[in-house]
Amino acid sequence: ALAERSCAPVRLDERDAELYYEGFSNSALWPLFHGFPQHTRFDEEAWEAYVRVNERFRDAVLALARPGDTIWVHDYHLMLLPSLLREALPDASIGFFLHIPFPDYETFRMLPWRRELMRGVLGADLVGFHAYDYVRHFLSSCRRIVGVENESGTLFADGRLAQVDAFPLGIDYVRYRDAARLPAVRRLVAELGEEKGHEGCKLMLSVERLDYSKGIPERLLAFDAFLDRFPEWRGRVVLVLVTVPSRENVASYAALKKQVDELVGLINGKHSTMDWTPVDYYYRSLPFERLIGLYAASDVMLVTPLRDGMNLVCKEYLACHDGGGGALVLSEMAGASYELHEALCVNPFDQEGVVDAMRRALEMPEAEQRRRNAPMQERLARYTSEKWAREFLDAAADVKRRQA
Ligand code: UDP
Repeated sequence: ALAERSCAPVRLDERDAELYYEGFSNSALWPLFHGFPQHTRFDEEAWEAYVRVNERFRDAVLALARPGDTIWVHDYHLMLLPSLLREALPDASIGFFLHIPFPDYETFRMLPWRRELMRGVLGADLVGFHAYDYVRHFLSSCRRIVGVENESGTLFADGRLAQVDAFPLGIDYVRYRDAARLPAVRRLVAELGEEKGHEGCKLMLSVERLDYSKGIPERLLAFDAFLDRFPEWRGRVVLVLVTVPSRENVASYAALKKQVDELVGLINGKHSTMDWTPVDYYYRSLPFERLIGLYAASDVMLVTPLRDGMNLVCKEYLACHDGGGGALVLSEMAGASYELHEALCVNPFDQEGVVDAMRRALEMPEAEQRRRNAPMQERLARYTSEKWAREFLDAAADVKRRQA
């Protein structure tokens, strides 16, 4: 099945897979890079598995790579791979893209293997991030940890020119826009409005993987405070909370699940009436059409992560409302906020600010929603995921020309 999609498997034994994925990748790199040192575990055995697995990926790539190929390495799971490949293929065109934030130097320096990771990434000709802040952080660590200086993101690693730059990831805009217009989805939208407990209510939507970086408990507490502060909204708004199961074998995720379950119970217990329940809670992954239906049916979209490399959910919501209203409340801490400043931008740690934004979003006139959305939708329709990939690969080719 993989071969049909031009994919090749990298086989790992169970123990290595666990130490590498749940261990080093998701218990050391993910929390540290998102600024949650309290969830970070540094474990020598997990690090050794990370090295081993990166070497396995190197071997798999070397078995397939042909002269002239461009090799594009993705994300925090494979930060050693660029330099492992460089040793074997000194002239290859190698790109690396990080899909999560790159933390400031003070945070990154906590990692016992910071030098190895820096050296690993610097094997690439082009290093890409979602945002300029992450580029800045990376360059600062580069200077302080391995003594490599740069000029406008151009640097020399072992005498080889390399470039570091920002490439904000977009979405397949037309796919979401068109899906929201399908008759089956329009029917779903109508049904969602008529569902028991939704009649006469505005829908406020939240869709995230269940991850501590997403600020789901904080979002729920803000909704509770909103209902306390604006009792006139009781019975007139429903928060549809979709949390997608994720990394359930990591202890901090299991604890978060319990916390969210309890908070939903608490809020529903406190505010529900006979014919209205404030939080509609789903702990599951949704089929595409259902997700699009929810996006399209929702008056307000709440995207308030405490830290997020990019966030695509907010972009998908806007595409589903192409040419129309819908109010987006967006965290300043999401990479997407650099491109979507017409949204109601909030600091997710400021509960009062989030409560105010909820009220403003619910009461915002349709004309203002459209006025805010139009420039964001236009930008998203232009900077699609396809354009992102093309720009990255063009930039990688450009680095090769400059090296010649
Ligand atoms: N998503 C999904 N199934 C669901 C809910 C969401 O596949 O039930 C998708 C959603 O459409 C989006 C992605 O999951 O494309 C989440 O990406 P994002 O960048 O927002 O966050 P991440 O999970 O990568 O941190």
